[in-house]
Amino acid sequence: MQVLTTKENLVRQVEACLRQNKTIGLVPTMGALHEGHAALVRRSVSENDVCVVSVFVNPTQFNNKEDLQKYPRTLEKDVELLTQLGAHFVFAPSAEEMYSAEEMNTEFAFDFNGLDKVMEGKMRPGHFNGVVQVVSRLFELVRPTRAYFGEKDFQQLAIIHHMVERSSMKDNFGDLQIMDCPIVREASGLALSSRNQRLSEEEKTIALNISKTLFASLEWAKTATVAEVEKRVIDTINAVDGLEVEYYEIVDRTTLQPTTTFQNAIGCITVYCGPVRLIDNIQY
Ligand code: AMP
Repeated sequence: MQVLTTKENLVRQVEACLRQNKTIGLVPTMGALHEGHAALVRRSVSENDVCVVSVFVNPTQFNNKEDLQKYPRTLEKDVELLTQLGAHFVFAPSAEEMYSAEEMNTEFAFDFNGLDKVMEGKMRPGHFNGVVQVVSRLFELVRPTRAYFGEKDFQQLAIIHHMVERSSMKDNFGDLQIMDCPIVREASGLALSSRNQRLSEEEKTIALNISKTLFASLEWAKTATVAEVEKRVIDTINAVDGLEVEYYEIVDRTTLQPTTTFQNAIGCITVYCGPVRLIDNIQY
């Protein structure tokens, strides 16, 4: 496996693969890799001739400086894991390599068709502009056949589908296929996240109440309305000392707009566990 840090070297390798008609799988990540990322990489390795994993803590998608500073960075360990998983290339550029000073300081313009106005988009203004900026750049550099994303970041996945399939940028990406990958959880139910590294053992135990409540809500949904389930989820989690719900919304899976039925619905949640912001979701 080769670690590449410049766009030029990456493009050179990509062009060599394309000349040989090789299929390329891309797994974009911000590093601090765990089993959730590993599942995406395993799938990419098994479904393509070549697997490229990007490890880049993208500054333009952080609207909170402290969150950016505290984001875990473990490149050496990540490279070890990716070697074991059979990835072929790791692309780990610096911010300066990815963006010009102007790109770094100007919000990336994109028509989200409203997908950025709810939930994560509402709470983290500009976040998805940064996501689309980095993912579209990675797609243009790597020209993947397939790109792998986790359902853990469900709104991000919906926006990537929009970008590739319906937006004015869609022609830039050829026949690229976006591959949705299910959430990987600990045996306890806690959704794996790089941010879990910032939780103490005690906080980790407290955080279990998030997935436990979401799973319980599948039962509640059999007899209650959407509004009642939303309220019960929020009240149950807020009743736990150390947890504070930022939002819980049951929305349509495609439009991400509020819904009143459980058909094609997904419940998306963000909870603060102490200072750590955790997200999760459940499909009804
Ligand atoms: P991140 O490094 O957090 O930007 O995540 C990189 C990719 O891994 C994204 O597509 C995430 O949705 C995905 N991912 C992160 N955690 C999980 C998980 N627990 N299960 C499945 N996919 C995940």
